[in-house]
Amino acid sequence: MTASDIPKAFHIMAKPTGSACNLHCAYCFFLEKEGLYPGSDFRMSAQVHEAYIRQLLEFHRTPQVTVAWQGGEPTLMGLDFFRRSVEFQQRRRKPGVHVENSFQTNGILLSDEWCRFFRENDFLIGLSMDGPRALHDFYRKDKAGRGTFDRVVRAARLLQKHKVECNILCTVNSNNAAHPLEVYRFFRDELGFDYIQFIPIVERKDESGFQAEETVTDRSVQPGQFGRFLIEIFDEWVKTDVGKTFVLNFDGALAGWLGRAGTVCIFGPTCGLGMALEHNGDLYSCDHFVDAAHYLGNILKTPMIEIVASEQQRKFGMDKKDGLPRCCRECAVLSICNGECPKNRFSKTPDGESGLNYLCAGYKAFFKHADKPMRIMAELIRTNRPASEVMAILARERGDLKTRFASAGRNDPCPCGSGVKFKKCHGSQA
Ligand code: SF4
Ligand code: SF4
Ligand code: SF4
Repeated sequence: MTASDIPKAFHIMAKPTGSACNLHCAYCFFLEKEGLYPGSDFRMSAQVHEAYIRQLLEFHRTPQVTVAWQGGEPTLMGLDFFRRSVEFQQRRRKPGVHVENSFQTNGILLSDEWCRFFRENDFLIGLSMDGPRALHDFYRKDKAGRGTFDRVVRAARLLQKHKVECNILCTVNSNNAAHPLEVYRFFRDELGFDYIQFIPIVERKDESGFQAEETVTDRSVQPGQFGRFLIEIFDEWVKTDVGKTFVLNFDGALAGWLGRAGTVCIFGPTCGLGMALEHNGDLYSCDHFVDAAHYLGNILKTPMIEIVASEQQRKFGMDKKDGLPRCCRECAVLSICNGECPKNRFSKTPDGESGLNYLCAGYKAFFKHADKPMRIMAELIRTNRPASEVMAILARERGDLKTRFASAGRNDPCPCGSGVKFKKCHGSQA
């Protein structure tokens, strides 16, 4: 390992309760991971906790360090665990370094006390929710099979009451995917959240098959469905919400049009800097690859930085790029998509090559659809203007088009630029 192999910053998602959770969501891929640690109590010991914080702060060479908590369900550790964590972080941080905590939760156990603590210590909360009652309760149930909607809304209101910074994490599954605007408007208007992230549910049924549509579970979103879901929300967002409502999927994609490293790993060219830490100190290549093949080592035995910079982890990171099939390497939107997350690359390309992303068709449709507004926003940002000006630019264009439609002859080329006669294109709708 040379000095240049050692990253200045990296991201560790700590799972203090391992995969243990107080809910039983139908699509949860964490729950099956309990089998990796038979007989475990799924509680992070004081020793692992201390090693995680100490090493994370020691090995970062940046002015900001994020301590990330997720599950399973991290609130099952109890509030005192996180109180101790914050005290420990303050004692261990280097002078001038700002430590931030992110915390992913299903919200069930949140109380005024939890929310006061989050607010006082600037925690950034990710609250999991799948939309309005019927869409949320469809898969997000407790162990008794009851829907959790009311309890999660209660948590959302508590977080808002205490002014805790909070993102909504919404899975897109075969059920809510058919209702994009209903889902988006629910979070934006009824709950009043400004930060939303959509996560596609892609669950493989049969790891040996390669006919994607046949090998995913019924809960999984279909590629085209996911594309339409993003497109419908994007159209509403780009008309009225740019700069007001932040949809991480759109921000992450915009980074590609700007030619910058984005905030979401799925659209990055390589992986490798976001690992998962199990409750016992075991470190894995990524939260989506917590399995024996991607076990890297234990932080009680090997310093975290050695694991992060290990050959195995660097190879895992580079495989994202090196494993792209030809149709991705030659794809017009490669610099934006980068073949998305390797965990979803189990489809075949049209010429029969393995390793195409299952969601490819949906992403292609979305990137094509969003191209023009994204280009406009990228140019606005490059010229130091707010991206939100895109809304006025597009509104003006829509107005111009309306005027041109009004004066177009039936046999003229359609003013929309399709190259088709007006009577067969937009004129047919008049
Ligand atoms: S809340 Fe999260 S960890 Fe718990 S069962 Fe649901 S998806 Fe899994
Ligand atoms: S495997 Fe997927 S989730 Fe993990 S770092 Fe890579 S892109 Fe991100
Ligand atoms: S859109 Fe499809 S072909 Fe293009 S890079 Fe993404 S996964 Fe590959």
